[in-house]
This record gives sequence, C-alpha cells and structure tokens, in this order.
Amino acid sequence: MGLYNLAVVPRLHPCPQCGNEGPMTLQFHFGNADLDTYRIGERMRWGGNDKGTPGKELVEVIGYQEPCDRCGLDEDKEYVLVFEHDVLTGGYRYALPEDIVRLE
Ligand SMILES: [Zn+2]
Repeated sequence: MGLYNLAVVPRLHPCPQCGNEGPMTLQFHFGNADLDTYRIGERMRWGGNDKGTPGKELVEVIGYQEPCDRCGLDEDKEYVLVFEHDVLTGGYRYALPEDIVRLE
C-alpha cells in the first residue's frame, strides 16, 4: 500500500511564487498510514497500515512537501520530521542530501 500520513506545519519559508506564509503540508510514512493529518504536538496513531515502530524515543522521517495550497507551485522540497515518543515535534527542518540517503 502506498498510503501515507500528512503533517500540517508552519512554513520555513514563504512560497517563492505567491508569497504564501500559511501552513505547508508534508507527506510522510510513519504510524498507521491512512491519510491522517497530524499537527505539532499530536501523537501518532497505530494499529492498521503501520509504518515504522511505535514508542521509540526519537524517530526522523522524510516529509515531502505538497504543492502550495494557494498557487499550486510544487517546490519538490524534502524536510526531516522529528517524532519524540510518537509525538510530532516542532523540530522539523530542511532535509540535507545526507538525510535523504540515511532516511529515504
Ligand atoms: Zn504559492
């Protein structure tokens, strides 16, 4: 199954095409992958199409940015999402090439 979850988090930069500073949406593969939407501070749900292992102290996964919800620009950017004890933290950041090698 190719299902994933979605994280809706504050942007690290405005959309370069339309200046949108609203939240961005990232696709990621962790938890019960069922097109659920998570925000910072929310705990992963498990018990279905599970990706990864529940209850780990620290988990990093790649987040794939969805197109801008205002103008549709697809920046094709990757981020690292950070979970502590299954909770999405505010520690997400731009993925470096070595992150992609390590996590993808
Ligand atoms: Zn835009």
